[in-house]
Amino acid sequence: MNPERIGARVDSRQAKLAGRAAEQIINDVVEMGWPVGAVLGSEAELLERYGVSRAVLREAIRLVEHQRVARMRRGTGGGLVIDEPSVDAVIGPAVIHLLRAGATLDEIFDTRILLEELVAELATQRLTEEGLAIIRDAVDREAESRVSDYRHLHTQLARLSGNPVLELFVETFSRVCNFHFADPDALPADIDREVLRAHRGIAKAVLANEPGLARDRMRRHLRAEADFIRAQPDTVQRLDPDVALAGTLGDKRGEALARQIFAELLTTGATPDTFVGSEAELMQRYSASRAVVREAIRILEYHRIAITRRGPGGGLYVTEPDIAAVVDIIAIYLRRHGVQLQHIADLRFRLELAVVARAAEALRPRSRRAGRETDGEVGMLEAALRAEAEQGPAAAFDRGEDFHTMLGRLTGNRALSLVHSVVLRLGWQFFAQSAADDPRAQALSQNLPSAVLPAHQGIADALLAGDVELAVARMRSHLAETGPGSEPTGGAG
Ligand SMILES: [Zn+2]
Ligand SMILES: [Zn+2]
Repeated sequence: MNPERIGARVDSRQAKLAGRAAEQIINDVVEMGWPVGAVLGSEAELLERYGVSRAVLREAIRLVEHQRVARMRRGTGGGLVIDEPSVDAVIGPAVIHLLRAGATLDEIFDTRILLEELVAELATQRLTEEGLAIIRDAVDREAESRVSDYRHLHTQLARLSGNPVLELFVETFSRVCNFHFADPDALPADIDREVLRAHRGIAKAVLANEPGLARDRMRRHLRAEADFIRAQPDTVQRLDPDVALAGTLGDKRGEALARQIFAELLTTGATPDTFVGSEAELMQRYSASRAVVREAIRILEYHRIAITRRGPGGGLYVTEPDIAAVVDIIAIYLRRHGVQLQHIADLRFRLELAVVARAAEALRPRSRRAGRETDGEVGMLEAALRAEAEQGPAAAFDRGEDFHTMLGRLTGNRALSLVHSVVLRLGWQFFAQSAADDPRAQALSQNLPSAVLPAHQGIADALLAGDVELAVARMRSHLAETGPGSEPTGGAG
């Protein structure tokens, strides 16, 4: 990076105020019952309602536009119009995040198997007569080759799990897998038959009300699929940026340029704060018009890949991958789609046990003996315990420095860590809500440190001693003890 190229950073105080204003806007939209198309107010009205400066309001609007909560409409009858966050508006940023974070195909598979095992189990336990008909129909259609999407049964099962978090992530990861493996039509006929046989087996177990069997069959099926995809000569471990940014709304040429710039940044491994170019330089480098360059910049900014800094040395700069921004977008989408505490509870228990087992693997003294340095990992764990003791668990969580978030990071699985972060975030939101309404929860929230810090310490001790089984057992009882209302675990599930 050229040290002369240091444009003005976004004022952090302003960013904080804007974040708070955006949160108020979202709460107002939720409270109004999310009336899509209604006007929340003109700029003048919003300035008054939220009591912020024009610059702060505009930044807040940029945030809610990014999250597809609302968008600014110019002209008469204009104002901030309430929007509908679509599933594509959520999956796009999630995929770009995975790409920027460098998630591999193996990480995606690992996470997908974990989630779809849970789907198979829950879909079985929650099966209704209507669900039964849906599953029969899905298998019949597939047998008669009447489905174009070979993952049709998976989508239906995810819906039948009755859990919007699972539904969203199953869809996200199955799309990501398709990026690696884009042409299911090219499947040889024997593979087709094998897939159908596996799907029939899963369906049968679900319909026979055998959740354990359904889960095992799902796992075996997805493992076989993963092995098959890995064995394909065209399969790559890293995602293709071209595919990930495909369909980004915008001018075709601007979009193509955004993809090209994004791909180049990934190929060169550009780190945050790297200078990409000024508008004039980009026009020249890519022989593009000002309008095309501006559209490309708009798309890169929208996806938080790069940001424009004004002033001397200004221009386009690479930004830090921002997991908090993606987690926000997903959490807002899920709130819009009626996520409830029970849905978090479904996932939290299984996720935390998977996370602690994988984190233990990363911390194992045996891998230290094998010459792999784990000082960094040990330091991360100790820093999290310190942050919670000094700031309290809630403040540590807000900074992304709490124990559970750190364990998620330690797994080294960026896909799993994304799902985990979303579930943690929603858990804290429900917890804050109940603490605001219920004096008993309020009292518990004040005792949070004494309730959870010793448990976290105990899990950490087991991890540092290399005792995976003990760490998992301690996590299990920690989650069982801290049901809804005493730590944002969402219960033991
Ligand atoms: Zn399948
Ligand atoms: Zn905890």
